[in-house]
Amino acid sequence: LAKPLGKGGLRGRPFCVTIPEVSLTRGAQAPLTTKDTTMAINAPEGTRDLLPDEALFWNQFKQTAAEVFGAYGYLPIETPIMEQTELFVRGIGEATDVVSKEMFTAISGENLRRWVEEGKAPKAKSRLSLRPEGTAGVVRAVVQHDLVPQGAAPAKLMYAGPMFRAERPQKGRQRQFNQVGVECLGAEEPTIDAEAIIMLMRFYEAIGLDTSKLTLLINSMGCETCRPAYRDAVAQFLIDHEADLCEECRTRAHTNPLRAFDCKQEACVQVMKDAPLITDALCEECKTHYAQVKAYLDDAGISYVDDPTLVRGLDYYTRTVFEVQVKEGMGAQNAIGGGGRYDKLMEEIGGQPMPGFGFALGFERCILALEAQGFTFPESRTIECFVACVDASVKPQAFMLLQHLRDAGIASDMDHLGKSLKAQFKSAGKQQASYVLVVGPDELAQNALTCRDMDAHEETTLDLAKFTEALQNAALTEEPTTLGDIITSLP
Ligand code: AMP
Repeated sequence: LAKPLGKGGLRGRPFCVTIPEVSLTRGAQAPLTTKDTTMAINAPEGTRDLLPDEALFWNQFKQTAAEVFGAYGYLPIETPIMEQTELFVRGIGEATDVVSKEMFTAISGENLRRWVEEGKAPKAKSRLSLRPEGTAGVVRAVVQHDLVPQGAAPAKLMYAGPMFRAERPQKGRQRQFNQVGVECLGAEEPTIDAEAIIMLMRFYEAIGLDTSKLTLLINSMGCETCRPAYRDAVAQFLIDHEADLCEECRTRAHTNPLRAFDCKQEACVQVMKDAPLITDALCEECKTHYAQVKAYLDDAGISYVDDPTLVRGLDYYTRTVFEVQVKEGMGAQNAIGGGGRYDKLMEEIGGQPMPGFGFALGFERCILALEAQGFTFPESRTIECFVACVDASVKPQAFMLLQHLRDAGIASDMDHLGKSLKAQFKSAGKQQASYVLVVGPDELAQNALTCRDMDAHEETTLDLAKFTEALQNAALTEEPTTLGDIITSLP
């Protein structure tokens, strides 16, 4: 339940409260929800479950990111999913869509009760928001823990996890989505911008995307020296063309003029074709910085499109900004990653002046991009070995064998439903086991075990004592091993 409190929440800022399912009426008698047990409860609108295939792919995706970004010196950081609302207001910017319309703000139970029952608004530090993006939290952590003391090498940090934005859900646009991102704090050199962009393109290759089907757009948004005059020029341009603009862009003229470049309304698109371009307004330092970034990309063989109308949705960007779009098959939500430089953000949130650069990429959109390129999820082989029982009398021995297999690092399972042997073989097939080990009273009497190789359709008899010993030895070694290796090593 989202209860908009209108003005007054955050000193006049638009503000939403997420109300937990507790009774909150004055006097606290009537619960806000009725218990209708016939109503199906689904995942909230704009969120989706990552079922095992996708969840496995998400783990692999994060692992690939850690490997690719690790080769560029990036280390992992985990910051809270909730931060003080003020961090996003100050860092991302009050006039941005993300902050003004899309944040999920939460008040904890007792504070909410006091607010509703006693009219006591929570203190700033109790106003929390689910993170709509990762940069503000990471920069906050860098300031709080002084991760880049004077003279230190830049902090190169990477994160992965869910972000929350109350956008209108559609294909490729969710309210909870997963991002992988990096932030580099403490370096202004264009090599940082270029290497991060190169690294992102390498990552796309590593997850299997054909990068020739992607477009890398880049631009420079200038700095505090040249941007204000440019911003004013665009604001004036919007005011001069007010009559032809949508209502939102008319407001943007006074709040966030550069965002008018992102407006999808046809009339605004036409007007913005003649708007002043940042390229003509950059100061000498910004021009040089931008030219160097592009030269490094050229040297690395990365193709890009210079797009002077690329303005990103968050206020904190300075100088380089970029976005990666999928050329075909994704509809309107075709951006699979983007970021840029934010040399003023650190100061905005109360730290020492310190340059920064970062990007984030969307996991769900990468899946859509992969699917548009013909990708299907690899079938996940969940276990290597299935232990089957001929009858219930051998279950304790089979259960013991299962523990030896698992201790040796062999992913294994058995039947937990009392199924027939035939049905157990079916289960083994469903779980894509490579081997089925059959435990039966006759075999046990001879200290033996039947092993069926499911891929080769062959059966062998194993000596149970020797096999168990080999599993115990395998459990003691650090080396990863397979059941096939253990079986072939048996005397
Ligand atoms: P941003 O933080 O807006 O720069 O977004 C970075 C990337 O996150 C985008 O390029 C998308 O791939 C992804 N993304 C942003 N918003 C959403 C959303 N609402 N749903 C799914 N993915 C998103």
